[in-house]
Amino acid sequence: MEELADQVRRAAQDGLRVKAVGTGHSFTSIAATDGVLIRPDLLTGIRGIDRSAMTVTVAAGTPLKVLNAALAREGWSLANMGDIMEQTVSGAISTGTHGTGRDSGSIAAQVKGLELVTADGSVLTCSATENPDVFAAARIGLGALGIVTAVTFAVEPLFLLTAREEPMPLERVLAEFDELWAENEHFEFYWFPHTGNTNTKRNNRSAGPRNPVGRWAGFFEDEFLSNGVFEVANRVGRAVPATVPAIARIASRALSARTYTDIPYKVFTSPRRVRFVEMEYAVPRAALPEVLRELKAVVDRSGLRVSFPVEVRTAPADDIPLSTACGRDSAYVAVHMFRGTPYHRYFTAAERIFTAHEGRPHWGKIHTRDAEYLSGVYPRFEEFTALRDRLDPERRFQNDYLRRVLGS
Ligand SMILES: Cc1cc2nc3c(=O)[nH]c(=O)nc-3n(C[C@H](O)[C@H](O)[C@H](O)COP(=O)(O)OP(=O)(O)OC[C@H]3O[C@@H](n4cnc5c(N)ncnc54)[C@H](O)[C@@H]3O)c2cc1C
Repeated sequence: MEELADQVRRAAQDGLRVKAVGTGHSFTSIAATDGVLIRPDLLTGIRGIDRSAMTVTVAAGTPLKVLNAALAREGWSLANMGDIMEQTVSGAISTGTHGTGRDSGSIAAQVKGLELVTADGSVLTCSATENPDVFAAARIGLGALGIVTAVTFAVEPLFLLTAREEPMPLERVLAEFDELWAENEHFEFYWFPHTGNTNTKRNNRSAGPRNPVGRWAGFFEDEFLSNGVFEVANRVGRAVPATVPAIARIASRALSARTYTDIPYKVFTSPRRVRFVEMEYAVPRAALPEVLRELKAVVDRSGLRVSFPVEVRTAPADDIPLSTACGRDSAYVAVHMFRGTPYHRYFTAAERIFTAHEGRPHWGKIHTRDAEYLSGVYPRFEEFTALRDRLDPERRFQNDYLRRVLGS
């Protein structure tokens, strides 16, 4: 930690900018710098689990998969998480990484305390009771407020989730979206463009017994269909775009209904080996059916060929100034394109729909918004920038991306 603080002070003397990076899983240049790059490799490990406070404190560069496995070994779990667990804890919280939840929010919403090295090289700790103004904002700090060195998360005794995956017509999902959301702790669905088909996933806490996906079924559905065959289908679609709608119809019917019960990270996360680019926006949850219908209409009439499903998730309103769910019950709509496929036309059309609904872009995924737009859709935007002015008046942690989204 002293070494890190020293690096920041030295960079200041040399007039260099500083940026911490995680595992580089962001699709934007949010972690890029032309100055000093702080890598996470030596900032890893579990510092301790406080059983009575029900918290775990972890070094900021620890990968989520290491945290999840360590917690499970000790009989604990995070309440909610995203689709993968390759990211570092600091990288994941800094961009507002989230899964889906009716009552439980993003990974940052589960943070109880933070430790960071600020621009003057001092170490600052914060929580709801200690430096609460810093705590409020720094949970999703975009790397703009300092180098996070440790994170304390709320944890729960390990529990089981039963997952029900089930294909369902898009029109039914949209018509019943409010009920599907209200009746399930974690509801999400994937819509396959060029079809009226979705695959839905409902995760709910269960008394067990544990009934994991069988090894063969897991290999067939998760590795063979969702990664192996999906990669080949995408390659064919990229080479011959006219085949995409037919492939989408087949792909959307390939996955069958299944139910399994397991510990949380084995239900929430899965390997994603097919490479893609992504844009994701949070819109008011009530606007979701309309947004999806507009997106479908655009795909249907535009001649676009989209081989990747659109993912829809939700989050309850939270109190983090730069959270995409700040003060607003939210639905997330994520559009993807297979790597190497031109994506601008599709993402531009999708972004036009999202922004018409006051959408807030994921900080780590592709978007074209700037500070002027963002200050209009984040009611507490100025609270964040005022804190940045105080903690980093010389913009030690600035980069081009932050200049665009936060202003200079
Ligand atoms: C295959 C894939 C699946 C994904 N799934 C999801 C998902 O389900 N849900 C979701 O919301 N997102 C998802 N994402 C996006 C991803 O979670 C975020 O982009 C996340 O920020 C990446 O974490 P990272 O460790 O790679 O951080 P990086 O991308 O390296 O950095 C992200 C930001 O964190 C900052 N940062 C990193 N470490 C520190 C530190 N110590 N102190 C201060 N700032 C720091 C960086 O400066 C930068 O601003 C996915 C991305 C991929 C590629």
